[in-house]
Amino acid sequence: MMVKSPVQQICFAHYPPIWVKRDDLADPFISGNKFRKLKYHLIKARTLHRHHLVTFGGPYSNHLLAVAAAASREGWKATAFVRGEEVHNEMLLLCRLFGMRFYFTERSLYKNKAALFDLHFGKDPEAFMIDEGGAGWEGARGCMEIVEELDTSFDHIFCAAGTGTTAAGLHAALHQKQSNACLHVIPVLKGIDLIDTIKAQHPSSSLSLQYHTHYHFGGYAKTNESLLQFICDFTAQTGLLVDPVYTGKMFYAIYDLIGKGVIPEHQKVLAIHTGGLFGILGMKDRFRTYVEH
Ligand SMILES: *Cc1c(COP(=O)(O)O)cnc(C)c1O
Repeated sequence: MMVKSPVQQICFAHYPPIWVKRDDLADPFISGNKFRKLKYHLIKARTLHRHHLVTFGGPYSNHLLAVAAAASREGWKATAFVRGEEVHNEMLLLCRLFGMRFYFTERSLYKNKAALFDLHFGKDPEAFMIDEGGAGWEGARGCMEIVEELDTSFDHIFCAAGTGTTAAGLHAALHQKQSNACLHVIPVLKGIDLIDTIKAQHPSSSLSLQYHTHYHFGGYAKTNESLLQFICDFTAQTGLLVDPVYTGKMFYAIYDLIGKGVIPEHQKVLAIHTGGLFGILGMKDRFRTYVEH
């Protein structure tokens, strides 16, 4: 990102205003936290003169699109192992336009990423492996910069979590700043404990961390009527697009917690908008009934 992403205030329904860190504005394709998470991977690849990015993801992965776009801008190659059988969708079409190649990989093989990389690219001196979602320390390091860019302080900072890499970066940076903020993490997968991942850099930090396990809506990419209705109302009233997989669940959680009094009304809340708006395309049919009435 050339300049830091803005922090904007939004008002929704009868709730008090909250602030949003607009990482979704960073780039249309290398969206939000994917930009943050790729930054140090790209620096490393550049340093090592490895100009073929090899990565992994599901067929609607925002990460794949980010890697495809980033590689093409550098003049590099990109290949992705895509989980499951061959499919065609809008996300993969965009990836293809950026020149990405795919290996559709059945689930049992997909699990062993290092083996897949070695089998296909072990002898390619240009190949540079990036884990699914840009996870790992490089990814978290990039996400620390979200906090480093903030110039006011907040009582509560919220983010959605898939791998927990973004949350780990926020945790590390808030710890370093000796912040009094409480970090709220909304896992979007069901039954997943990311607390060790989030605290990896500073396991005994006294930073306050709240891990909210009740906003996954049934699991990854699962939704229900109230989430879809919330997203439609929220977007129409605030002008902020959110996706049903990540940020929709986070904003739902924020207003639910404010409504229940868990977050006191006068305290300052910051939501990290991690981008990923093409996720909407994965659910276009489910949305239709809400927007065409
Ligand atoms: C990938 C993604 C996340 C998950 O980030 P993690 O660092 O894996 O926890 C959150 N929000 C959006 C919009 C994403 O695309």
